[in-house]
Amino acid sequence: MRPSFIEVDLSILTHNLKLIREHIDNRPVMAVVKSNAYGHGLVRVAHLYEQLGVNSLGVALLEEGIILRKSGISLPIAVFGGVLKEQIPELLEWDLEFIVPSADVLNDTEKFCKAQNRRATVHLKIDSGMGRIGTIAENSESLIASALDSEHINIKGVCSHFACADDPEDPKTLEQIDRFLEAVSVFEKLGTSTPLRHIANSGGVLYFPQSHLDIVRPGIILYGVYPEPSCPRILELKPALKLKSKVSFHKSIPPGFSISYGATWTSESTAEISTIPLGYGDGYPRQLSNRGEVLINGKRRPIVGRVCMDQFMVNCKSENLNAGAEVILIGEQDGQCITVEEMSKWAETIPYEILTNLNERLPRTYAN
Ligand SMILES: *Cc1c(COP(=O)(O)O)cnc(C)c1O
Repeated sequence: MRPSFIEVDLSILTHNLKLIREHIDNRPVMAVVKSNAYGHGLVRVAHLYEQLGVNSLGVALLEEGIILRKSGISLPIAVFGGVLKEQIPELLEWDLEFIVPSADVLNDTEKFCKAQNRRATVHLKIDSGMGRIGTIAENSESLIASALDSEHINIKGVCSHFACADDPEDPKTLEQIDRFLEAVSVFEKLGTSTPLRHIANSGGVLYFPQSHLDIVRPGIILYGVYPEPSCPRILELKPALKLKSKVSFHKSIPPGFSISYGATWTSESTAEISTIPLGYGDGYPRQLSNRGEVLINGKRRPIVGRVCMDQFMVNCKSENLNAGAEVILIGEQDGQCITVEEMSKWAETIPYEILTNLNERLPRTYAN
């Protein structure tokens, strides 16, 4: 195996789910595992959640749903992304629930199911203020009415998505909840039972208890990472993912010696430089050039020069190291810790992008 790899601690994933369940009074959970389970490995993580008794799994793509079914997952799986007409047969074939964001998709689904004499299980999507997919809340009554009239459609849920829930102070989230509940009240008005109402992503789960409703859809907090570095830490979540490597080469350099492409860093005095065998080709952000840090021997070592596709260099100042020394890029070493949130600040992005960029070139191993 490569010396650069991801290690996911399954007992930490279990711990995070337990904390989240306590926080939501043991409501049902749809565990969101899209984008390779936020970099943690789709299949392994999904099977853990199935063992832990979550109620369903959420993915973005039809293809992610198919991978899960092929791997033997029998839990309900909901596909969040927009559905194209030509995807409907496969969604049904693989027993995947999906989001119906419009009357058009509803009609296409009903038509197909009628011709095939089968039923689709769907979640109607209401746009309460995200502006991505869904029928705008004010116009949603007719979507709901047509769905109720469609004989081959099983309306399992009605849902919406937050735009700003990672900020506990943002009033737009409360407005979205109101708009959503108003739209959903149509079921009662029409004299039918209301399907599962869901809107809470990680921010909603953490900061807006009134958004928890019938089932929640947490993603990033399952993995022990907060949506933004500035998010209040109200649960004792622990990060489950570590990114590790080993020093592949070490050298002493004289003053005036430049490091890496573009020669963007030059030593002022003699220095000890270690090379680490991974780079942006693995999803390690090139934006960390001359900005990021890694841990070696329990100390923070600044990245010097540009991050290359497969390697980069760090400055160990006066400490002469041997090739083979353990490097922690994400995680803890001797009491020091580098978090995904901290990396996202260095890279001027969000923790989600750091995690989901870590690609298949990095082997994943599972502990506990
Ligand atoms: C990604 C996603 C989630 C989970 O979002 P987090 O912020 O990671 O909790 C929930 N619902 C939908 C529709 C999503 O696309």
